[in-house]
Amino acid sequence: MERILGIDLGTTNSMAAFVGPKGLEVVENERATTQTPSVVTLSPTGVLVGRDALAARITYPDTTFYSFKRFMGRGAEDVAEDLSRLPYEVRIGERDHLLLGPLGQGKSPEELSALVLRQIKKEAETVLGEEIKKAVITVPAYFDDGQRQATRVAAELAGLEPVRILNEPTAAALAYGLEEKGEGKILVYDFGWGTFDVSILELKGKLFKVLATHGDTHLGGDDLDQILMDWAQEELLTKPTPQDRQALKQGCEALKIALTGQLEAEVELNLERGRHVLKLTREEFNRLITPKVAETLEHIHLALRAADLTPGEIAEVVMVGGSSRIPWVRQKIQELFGKSPHVRLNPDQVVALGAGRQAHLLAGGEKNFLLMDVIPLSLGLETLGGAFNKMIMKNASIPAKVTEEFSTSADNQTGITLNIFQGEREFVKDCRKLGQFILKGIPPMPAGLPRVKVTFFVDANGLLVVSAKEERSGVEAEIEVIPTHGLKQSEVSRMIKDSFEHAAEDFASRNLVEFRAKAEMVEAGLRRVWEKVKSLRGPEEIQALEAQMARVKAAAEGEEATLLKKELDLLGDLTRDLADEIMGLAAKEVLLEP
Ligand code: ADP
Ligand code: MG
Repeated sequence: MERILGIDLGTTNSMAAFVGPKGLEVVENERATTQTPSVVTLSPTGVLVGRDALAARITYPDTTFYSFKRFMGRGAEDVAEDLSRLPYEVRIGERDHLLLGPLGQGKSPEELSALVLRQIKKEAETVLGEEIKKAVITVPAYFDDGQRQATRVAAELAGLEPVRILNEPTAAALAYGLEEKGEGKILVYDFGWGTFDVSILELKGKLFKVLATHGDTHLGGDDLDQILMDWAQEELLTKPTPQDRQALKQGCEALKIALTGQLEAEVELNLERGRHVLKLTREEFNRLITPKVAETLEHIHLALRAADLTPGEIAEVVMVGGSSRIPWVRQKIQELFGKSPHVRLNPDQVVALGAGRQAHLLAGGEKNFLLMDVIPLSLGLETLGGAFNKMIMKNASIPAKVTEEFSTSADNQTGITLNIFQGEREFVKDCRKLGQFILKGIPPMPAGLPRVKVTFFVDANGLLVVSAKEERSGVEAEIEVIPTHGLKQSEVSRMIKDSFEHAAEDFASRNLVEFRAKAEMVEAGLRRVWEKVKSLRGPEEIQALEAQMARVKAAAEGEEATLLKKELDLLGDLTRDLADEIMGLAAKEVLLEP
């Protein structure tokens, strides 16, 4: 049985899961963590991914990319609101395709996601001791065809065949084995770092149908941290300096997380003007976050209304996302539905676990299992006067296939341009354009005579393939489908080829590149705080530090990855305590945590 990996490609964190001898489990990397931050840094010496990129964001703020899932398969007009919030540059390339980063080294959201997927693939291969070629990848239920297509491209660029694109809430329901219940409405409440989603699914004989989704792409645990920061600033009575802000932010998140387990908690902040202790009770915390929690409840009501359901008609509630751990959130959900939500599984892992289970099922791990999904939005063509002719209706079960006949509107017309749209409105101007479909080479005939059969096929991944044929002449005309926001097939092939050539690169030299970047970061970090270091340490220790820095530098100039790693580790040992003393948590990442 060929293994298929289940992957939760998240906005802030990504994770993989599989079914092994111990059953369903998540992949743990060598750092014994399961989450890979969805972050990529282009440093002068190479590309950093995951935790290393997260650590590098202070050194390279304008080439450290995060939150790029928001840009997958989107055009400039879709993301205008996001642009102002991010420290990196986003430019518009060919065909409205977005490019992140400075001119000349921009990367598409697909390429950045591919780097994260490649890292996850590599870690899973290390853990499992086998090559992995296929994956099930999850996406939000509201992702449209373009966004799903972009996810598929990202997988291909990472050397993974995306055997299924699975909705995140469906994955969560699968992780709990809810399809066993056979019937009922399920509500999935996903409260993460930066986004909030509620989805209502209908289960009917192992088929999950998305009845409604609602949410806010800018509502999450990060907003709760922000609320605590505002509160803390009042407590401190002064505005924090820019250096203090990072320590304050991390302190506030730590306080929030501590209050999930305790009725009161405190954190110590190392501010520029000295140490400061922040104390908070859970009761006060609940009061502070009530408006944000109320917003999530409002989205639930809107989703329920869209699905024409009352809370009492929901049979199961599934909690997803780190912020769903907050006791106050759980209490409010319990009160609203009058029943305990599913919280047995780790809410950070539940989507990945569901993907892992689905992957196992697809690989043939459980017999007699059929799970299908539905398409989120209707698909069709533009017709006369800009009307939208729906071919496949929203919520149709997939795979789905529909063929319709069209003709020409002018005499001797030899080509037809068909525009493909997705949406629920009557006119295409209110729908989303997915691509253009050009049918060429129709023999000259009077208007209305050619019989052009257009077929829309949505495969098991919810992805659209369009084909066409002129029946009367029997000539199969040449067809080109250009995704509006995606990459052309030739570009995809080229990039796949490029990435394979890259993979052939010597493993050690890739490590060397990563370690060199790390060495540079550590050096820059130390240089910035050097005055403080000198005030904290005796001359002997300073000398030892300087000597070790010189050794790191020499090793970075050499070609031996293992030597450089050893020297970096030694420098890490020397600076670890300093990091705490000088700059608090924020700078610790920069100093060194190999
Ligand atoms: P996303 O799906 O958006 O990538 P996650 O589901 O990983 O995000 O959730 C991350 C968020 O959960 C962060 O804001 C983090 O502070 C918060 N979080 C994690 N653990 C806890 C906890 N025990 N209590 C409260 N919040 C938590
Ligand atoms: Mg998530």
